[in-house]
Amino acid sequence: MKSRLMRLVSIPEGMPQPSNFKIEHEELGVPANGELLLKPIYISVDPYLRAAMSGGHPPNLNAGDIIISRGIAEVVRSSDKRFSQGDFVMGYMEWRDILIAKADGLIHLKNNALPLSAYLSVLGSTGLSAYFSLIEIGKPKRGETMIVSGAAGAVGSIAGQIGKILGCKVIGIVGSEEKAQLITSAFQFDAAINYKTNKDINATIQELCPEGIDIYFDNVGGTVSDAVISNMNDYGRVIVCGTIADYNNTMKATGPRLLPLVVFKKLLIQGFLIGDYKDRFEEGRRQLQHWLAEDKIHYTETIMEGFEQLPDAFIGLFNGTNKGKMLVKISSCTIY
Ligand code: NAP
Repeated sequence: MKSRLMRLVSIPEGMPQPSNFKIEHEELGVPANGELLLKPIYISVDPYLRAAMSGGHPPNLNAGDIIISRGIAEVVRSSDKRFSQGDFVMGYMEWRDILIAKADGLIHLKNNALPLSAYLSVLGSTGLSAYFSLIEIGKPKRGETMIVSGAAGAVGSIAGQIGKILGCKVIGIVGSEEKAQLITSAFQFDAAINYKTNKDINATIQELCPEGIDIYFDNVGGTVSDAVISNMNDYGRVIVCGTIADYNNTMKATGPRLLPLVVFKKLLIQGFLIGDYKDRFEEGRRQLQHWLAEDKIHYTETIMEGFEQLPDAFIGLFNGTNKGKMLVKISSCTIY
């Protein structure tokens, strides 16, 4: 049986291009003891992969590597007694349209309350990132003001809604009017700022947040974050989830020196990696599922169809093509 695979053939210089990727074909063997033959249903494309291509996020992705990210797959054939044909599994997998993977490390998805894709979005690492970093670092209190950048994306859209549930006033920063509309209607943010058209973000922040900012949930970094951080209140908390505005930079970014502000305003600025919370994923999923069932959280996904769309879906993250989680649907589930 032949497998199609997606190879990173060269490291992008700046914005990733389709030419950085190549589809190849390879003969697959049969699963050895402890292995599964898997048919991916969804593959997740994520901004951190770009950072991994520049050595900025472990594990590094090098030219010549087959790309690996999280996915959900159906078991086609099992050589591991814990899994059977037709089961669904979630975990890290190579970008292939059919693959052999070790069963160890894969999560068995059963009795799913939501569509499979949700386990890569609102109940996946992006929803969990929003939940754990906001609760553990942001420590929101009722009546506080929170700004979220990348607010219509997978992490940002959930972070903002959790902030609302916990009684904060929440402003989102996004890259289009359509996204501004989405977050203030479907996701109940109090206001939105379009960073691509706004002429003076600093002034708009001061207008929308006359009481200052207590929590900044940062997904983007760059000049947007410079403007937000300079408006933080004393003892404000900055959750540094990601810096997507920097991932394609070919030159080291420069900017204002914020440390004096950190001292005088007694700010907490903390990064995190969701892997640190892996022992608590079940707790996070339970809480998110509870809010979903209560209709307090809504989510959206942008799903591109077809294995060959993986590079375009990935590049789309840097053009703002996606609303909510960006996924690629590789195949449909088999009806046995
Ligand atoms: P996402 O927000 O769903 O998608 C990326 C979005 O970023 C795009 O839709 C685009 O929206 C925005 N964007 C792209 N280039 C930008 C730029 N130069 N300036 C400002 N915004 C830009 O992606 P995600 O998966 O939820 O990830 C969001 C961030 O969290 C990323 O930085 C990612 O690396 C990070 N992350 C970290 C962890 C962790 O464990 N620390 C886990 C998951 C994700 P617009 O149209 O609004 O520009």
